[in-house]
Amino acid sequence: MQESIVTQTPRSPFKLRSVPTMRAVLARTQHDGVAIGHFNVADLVLLKAVCAAAQELKVPVAVGLSSGERAFVGVREIVALTRSLREETDVPIFLNADHTHSLAQALEVAEAGFDSIVFDMSALPFDENVRQTKKAVEALKAINPAILVEGEIGNIGSGSEIHDVAPDLSSGLSTPVEARQFVESTGVDILAPAVGNMHGLLKSMVRGETKKRLNIARIAEIKHAAGVPLTLHGGSETDDDDLRQAIAAGINIIHISTELRVAWRRGLEKGLATQPDEVVPYKILAFAVESVQQVARSRLMLFNG
Ligand SMILES: [Zn+2]
Repeated sequence: MQESIVTQTPRSPFKLRSVPTMRAVLARTQHDGVAIGHFNVADLVLLKAVCAAAQELKVPVAVGLSSGERAFVGVREIVALTRSLREETDVPIFLNADHTHSLAQALEVAEAGFDSIVFDMSALPFDENVRQTKKAVEALKAINPAILVEGEIGNIGSGSEIHDVAPDLSSGLSTPVEARQFVESTGVDILAPAVGNMHGLLKSMVRGETKKRLNIARIAEIKHAAGVPLTLHGGSETDDDDLRQAIAAGINIIHISTELRVAWRRGLEKGLATQPDEVVPYKILAFAVESVQQVARSRLMLFNG
């Protein structure tokens, strides 16, 4: 029987609708040769655009908020918005707490009802990362046994921004040995390795001149060693063929953030430039929704091949 959460929608009190859990959807990705698209949202424009793209293509989607994005939108508010959108759509929409750097913040989102948490202690030495992540997994599962906890190893830089110079990622790629050790010692459900990916974009990538490249062989080795679903962070402006091969090699979730931020800004600029006297927010912001939706649609089509 398929693992599922049964929700009762307020609009149809007599009809019970079955929504698959994130764990169940994730388990199917490997078999189906697809990945769940994870998109960062910081306002209603991004949330609407991402959910509309998923609905249009009839594919599952994860919306993520880093601690900065959560501080702006509100933890309880995004849970309520996502629940409401779920009730109105027939595709699974999952809510992820992206890059959470303290146990207190992780507990807050678990209690609020997030489906998954990226507990990120990757800036610490490996042993300390293991110790703190293990403690977090235990505490989070005590609050909600169904919550998925993702751990991070290696360095892929920080900040979904436009970088003037490439960040120093000289500490290198994650290894299969540390991936296996990390998963076995911490009990994480999902692992995010460093496999050539990078947070943020370089200016040359924004101009469309260069793309990020991934180490596909390393992804396959880590997958084999770790034996859990893998997330690719910093997926914006990665070579399309590398993304396809990464999914085949074992990546199950792909994060796109900076690419959406660039689309959000360009859409907003277009909305303002083409209507210089307009003051109605939804008439201006409609351009940003369309611009973001186009990027989300294109990435979801690729990830769901
Ligand atoms: Zn990330």
